[in-house]
Amino acid sequence: MATTLFKEFQFEAAHLLPHVPAGHKCGRLHGHSFMVRLEITGEVDQHTGWVMDFSDIKRAFKPIYDRLDHYYLNDIPGLENPTSEVLAEWIWQQMKPALPLLSAVMVKETCTAGCVYRG
Ligand SMILES: [Zn+2]
Repeated sequence: MATTLFKEFQFEAAHLLPHVPAGHKCGRLHGHSFMVRLEITGEVDQHTGWVMDFSDIKRAFKPIYDRLDHYYLNDIPGLENPTSEVLAEWIWQQMKPALPLLSAVMVKETCTAGCVYRG
């Protein structure tokens, strides 16, 4: 039976959204404590009792984390318009080759606002 596990990461970054209407607060330079939740879905191995090792998820995300944490997201190729939606899809594209069982990427930019991308 397929089981989903998840691992959450937090990073700090600045951005602005270039396509919002004039005067919109998101058009001004600001920062967030972003939360990223990676979900992995697969069969539970009968011997190990897990889908995969959490530390392998952390290791796979590390290069992405290092590109995001304490950076200005708009400077990163592919993130010129760094909404949560764009960021979630971008993380998916970066992570999927290393994590074939990746089933969802959640990005939260505040405690109450975020999105989920499922490929
Ligand atoms: Zn923002």
